[in-house]
Amino acid sequence: MTRPVLSVRGLRVEFPTRKGVLVAVDDISFDIAEGEVLGVVGESGAGKSMTGSAVIGLIEPPGRIAGGEVRLDGRRIDNLPYEEMRRIRGRRIGMIFQDPLTSLNPLYRIGDQIVETIRAHAPVGEKAARQRAIALLGDVGIQGAEARIDSYPHQFSGGMRQRVVIALALAADPELVIADEPTTALDVSIQAQIIQLLKRLCRERGTAVMLITHDMGVIAETADRVAVMYAGRIAEIGPVRDVVQSPHHPYTKGLMGSIPTLDANAPRLMQIPGAMPRLNAIPKGCAFHPRCMEALGRCWQDRPEPAAIGRSEVACWLTAGAVAGAGR
Ligand code: SF4
Repeated sequence: MTRPVLSVRGLRVEFPTRKGVLVAVDDISFDIAEGEVLGVVGESGAGKSMTGSAVIGLIEPPGRIAGGEVRLDGRRIDNLPYEEMRRIRGRRIGMIFQDPLTSLNPLYRIGDQIVETIRAHAPVGEKAARQRAIALLGDVGIQGAEARIDSYPHQFSGGMRQRVVIALALAADPELVIADEPTTALDVSIQAQIIQLLKRLCRERGTAVMLITHDMGVIAETADRVAVMYAGRIAEIGPVRDVVQSPHHPYTKGLMGSIPTLDANAPRLMQIPGAMPRLNAIPKGCAFHPRCMEALGRCWQDRPEPAAIGRSEVACWLTAGAVAGAGR
């Protein structure tokens, strides 16, 4: 990989409480290259959104980054003053959230919001910015963009609003887009269109994408690589084809087994027993061991570290690399 757009190393996010320190993200590392989509997947509480929030410097206090570093185009950004980080958000990092109304102000015309974003980050006049906004709305599939640019958010359907949010996220030509469950609130029929749109636009522009979702099906269709998170750690990371076709980690296998298919001969959908542990009850050893059908004795005591297997990295005692690594 050439120098990654986003590089995360040993990231740790903690929440101090009266009963002790809770660790929401625990020593995770990954890169995203130009034009690449990294899917970050896991159940609710796995630490995916917290990882996204850490990258964009939006962890709610008393939460804090307690270790590791985040680099954008080689420059460290996790230790920047608030104002500097605020400028980076929007200009160099675009954001798309589940609810389009998190990003859109219902009281302003959508065109004004896009124009304002363009002009906040680039020295262009009102007229040129408006032309650019119309072009962007056309790019994201808003028919009759010239007329619709003066509409208010409530005059659009949910799917159309999310297209507008994508236009807004790309308005300043960011190097990185973080999309956190961008289609979860939309009809299933619209979800695929929005995901394909995001993927196409980012590929054309060379934008790196961190796509956070609980839906392995979305990842399988969209991402170039996937990071599977469990209890604040990366269980498995690798090229999406490798991970989808031959998952190594039992948790990844469980997620894969839960993707619905139209094949009548496909085996019954699997369900992973149990639930993601709460932050104050993360088990010792491998955090997945109470739910793992393949757990070994040592899984209860020793935490597996990520080890290379083919083009992937897997944190599991079952995999040869991890066992060899432990023996060193
Ligand atoms: Fe299961 Fe053990 Fe692998 Fe954890 S380390 S996933 S408990 S086999």
